[in-house]
Amino acid sequence: MDAPEQKRQKADSGAVVTEEQAAEFAAKAQAEGRPRLRILTGDRTTGKLHIGHYVGSLKHRVKYQSLYDTFVLMADVQALTTHYDRPEILKQSVREVALDYMACGIEPYTGGPDDGTKAKIVVQSMVPAIADLTVYYGLLVPVRSLIDNPTVKTEAQQHGFGIKQIKVPKVLVSETYRPFVEKIKARVEAEFKELGESSLHDYYEAITEFWNQKYLIKQEDLESDAEIRLSIDVFLVMDEGNAIYKGDFFASGQMNPWEILGDLLNLPYKRKTLREIILQLKHGRDFTSMTYGFLGYPVSQAADITFVGAHLVPVGPDQVPLIELCREVVHRFNSQYGKKKRVLTSPYALLGVREALQGIDGNAKMSKSLNNAIYLSETDAEIWAKVKPAPTDPQRVRREDPGRPEVCNIFSYHKVFNGEKEAGIDEAALNVATVEEVAENCRGAKWGCVECKQHLCKKLSAILDPMRERRAEWEKRPDDLQDVLKAGTARANEEGEKTLERVRSAMHMDYFR
Ligand code: ATP
Ligand code: MG
Repeated sequence: MDAPEQKRQKADSGAVVTEEQAAEFAAKAQAEGRPRLRILTGDRTTGKLHIGHYVGSLKHRVKYQSLYDTFVLMADVQALTTHYDRPEILKQSVREVALDYMACGIEPYTGGPDDGTKAKIVVQSMVPAIADLTVYYGLLVPVRSLIDNPTVKTEAQQHGFGIKQIKVPKVLVSETYRPFVEKIKARVEAEFKELGESSLHDYYEAITEFWNQKYLIKQEDLESDAEIRLSIDVFLVMDEGNAIYKGDFFASGQMNPWEILGDLLNLPYKRKTLREIILQLKHGRDFTSMTYGFLGYPVSQAADITFVGAHLVPVGPDQVPLIELCREVVHRFNSQYGKKKRVLTSPYALLGVREALQGIDGNAKMSKSLNNAIYLSETDAEIWAKVKPAPTDPQRVRREDPGRPEVCNIFSYHKVFNGEKEAGIDEAALNVATVEEVAENCRGAKWGCVECKQHLCKKLSAILDPMRERRAEWEKRPDDLQDVLKAGTARANEEGEKTLERVRSAMHMDYFR
């Protein structure tokens, strides 16, 4: 499926509702005197939350918590589906994500009678009903529907699974380049020895640092950090004796590294294919070495959503295929075991943005795991240090060159963060340019990229300032924060037990009544 087709399907998905529909559902339930409808959504506790989470999901959670009975799940088990070998990240991440929630303005439930007006913050692994439901739902999910799920496919690929083995062709290093290759290799190796790095993670960190220090190449000569890392990976992976190496690429920085790599691997230049090859080289894992837990995480996500009978799931667009899968599970379960009764509730997705926010390097979705994120907890100075060198329109080399906003990643941020009025912010008083003004100033070369970026940062800062204040308050109250999680989790367990009882009874497993 090509990208436009995927986009079309996403937009057409019966699993997605608009904001108007979400508000209508809630109003209708209220008018009919029914209990509040529910929201369930959450995040993997793999690190701090970023501005992609904010526009993709957090903003809606805050907005709709007054209309829906809200449950926010810290998906720590799901975090382990990709980080099972790094459980030490969990405690810190749980704390950070909880602070991010408070910073965004989630109004937490703190115990006592629950009238559905406060959000329950829940730790996934502490709700055993989710694990039980995962097992039961697994009975109904064909493996094919997991393997073919577009979100699973993309994420599997990000983690290096399921890519065909490709052999690096053997080519001889031309004598002209050999001294250059030797020199680079020696410097890289020396650097590693000095750093004493051993693990793969540290290795990548170190190699990035190495390039950043501009021993061999100026970072701005390349499109992004990620490319530098990937290109050097390929260089190191290939036996230097077998590699043909164009030294002048590094010397001048004039050529596109992807073209060079295409050349090196004797393949037609295709950015995507190369990225896959490099992932393969890096991870070299085939599809069947994927864990059962990783492949099955959409099933556990269906359990996350249904244990509270959620009607609405505010998420980013990457999640739509998983909501569709959840609806399929609900449908199968209800038709298999429900007789005429609806045992489980089918959820709808509410999307914060139509396209996932790109990372600051413009190469992939902003993600905690890709080192391309602007975190909600960062200071203005830290954010500026990321935004200032961020790539813009590559054809806009000089200040007086007209720019093309439609190809600029920074402009896409303007559209997302400046496209509509942000609650509590007086944009006019702030004096930030509108999206139209930004586009005009760029096309007419009235602004340089730096001015454009300053406007963006001003708006980001206005959005983040109130979060900073709330965060600072909660940072002083670690025990209260812990109590919020305990209260939310306890309340979630009440709902989980009720759902489990219903489910087990529908499945003829209510033995001791
Ligand atoms: P990880 O790399 O650990 O998977 P992540 O950054 O992808 O982290 P998740 O915890 O997987 O974050 O996602 C939490 C929620 O935030 C989901 O609803 C997801 O759709 C949304 N989200 C994450 N990244 C983005 C993004 N770049 N743009 C829009 N929404 C996003
Ligand atoms: Mg993710």
